[in-house]
Amino acid sequence: MSGFAKTEFGPLKVIPGENGSRFPFSNTLFIDDDVKVVIDTGAGSKSMRDLKKKQRIDMVINTHYHFDHMAYNYLFDESKILINDREAECYRDRRRIGFLLGMVEVYGEKWVDAWLDRIANPDTEQTPYSPQNNHKWWLSSARVDGEYSWGDTLDFGRTKAHVIGAPGHSEGFCCMYFPDLGVVYVADFDLTAFGPWYGGTDGDIDLFIESCKNIEKLDAKYFITGHEIGILEKDDFKIGLGNYLRRIEKRDSLILSKLSEPLTLEALADMGLIYGKKFHEDAWVAMWNYLMTKKNLQRLVRNGEVKLVDNEYQKQ
Ligand SMILES: [Zn+2]
Repeated sequence: MSGFAKTEFGPLKVIPGENGSRFPFSNTLFIDDDVKVVIDTGAGSKSMRDLKKKQRIDMVINTHYHFDHMAYNYLFDESKILINDREAECYRDRRRIGFLLGMVEVYGEKWVDAWLDRIANPDTEQTPYSPQNNHKWWLSSARVDGEYSWGDTLDFGRTKAHVIGAPGHSEGFCCMYFPDLGVVYVADFDLTAFGPWYGGTDGDIDLFIESCKNIEKLDAKYFITGHEIGILEKDDFKIGLGNYLRRIEKRDSLILSKLSEPLTLEALADMGLIYGKKFHEDAWVAMWNYLMTKKNLQRLVRNGEVKLVDNEYQKQ
């Protein structure tokens, strides 16, 4: 049982991810049309293998390059793999992933080389709170056969998908809008407590908010998220999205509450205000926390609430 009231929308079927689609799993879409398409492959090994056994899959489309949306690409060895043109480089040169995710910014180029060695080896020990060292990173970023662009209409036969560019979560992130079905797949505008996530070098809070507001305006009855909640009708999505985006303001407030004295970014990040300190033993969670703290601080500076003096942030 998926737990969702409705999982089929004409030729579009939602394949729920393992463990309630919690990160690092995600919901997968299957489009059973003239062109048989899988959108994002993060549902899990069993469901992706089952699907491949039952169906000819012509095409795999990734909404973006993050692990939880591409982890099982490698199983679809007979399908064309597509990703948006802004991120296709990630599958030609994995160092691009190291740059976009923030590994270069936070830990430096050499750390990325060591990371590539770790993911290349299937026996590398895993870290506790992220898929940092997962070998599927290596396997599933090995190939790209085509690219699509924001604004494209992808034609699968009866089903057409409009590619809505929605940056902020990642550089090339997009939502897939199916106007004839009244459905939009919003992927990582997922309304979960883990987000809003803008923790890569390519993440951007202002763009994230703007993109969410654009997506909310689409004429769709159903909004399908990549994680957890899954399938929402428009009114519920709107309410959830309002609460979700307010978490960004709460992060601002929490940071401001710590600025009774001037503090460096490092000192603030070390408090674990976005992702708690106990998770920082995983270098990736520490990186997300650092970059998101930085982005919230930069937003507070832009809004005139905080200023940066001699490398320390202080209230205006
Ligand atoms: Zn993502």
